[in-house]
Amino acid sequence: MTVRLRPHHLLCLLTYVGKGYTPGFVANYDRIARRLSEGESVLIVDGPDDVCAALLCEPDPHCHRDSVRLRDAQAAADIGDLLDMTISAGSGIELHPMLLARMRKAFADGVTRKACRGCEWADLCSGIAADAYREARVQAEAVECC
Ligand code: SF4
Repeated sequence: MTVRLRPHHLLCLLTYVGKGYTPGFVANYDRIARRLSEGESVLIVDGPDDVCAALLCEPDPHCHRDSVRLRDAQAAADIGDLLDMTISAGSGIELHPMLLARMRKAFADGVTRKACRGCEWADLCSGIAADAYREARVQAEAVECC
């Protein structure tokens, strides 16, 4: 199984602490955070993903808006540069602990924050990063070495 994520959710998962738009959204995101923490890989998709799924039954969900697609494009560019890979539909990513730590450092340093411009959660996410992601629900398990 893979978790289907649109590119800007590669940033949002770093700071997810159980807050969100609706109780159903949070319950769904908690399940996704657990799956990612248990090592499930990520498949990048174009447009609404497994996180968006809990909002798609609402009238006019923001997940389809051009502004959100722009956020995806910016996040794909910045994370692609950071990881030296192409982030586009069909890309696969293993969120191993070192990769997660690298993405979190870049996020805290502002290297990958352009996609966050105008987001209503920006201050919350900045605070979580400044607090060393202590409350974040995606915490990759250390991989045991043989
Ligand atoms: S500020 Fe918005 S886009 Fe950026 S990580 Fe937080 S929720 Fe995601």
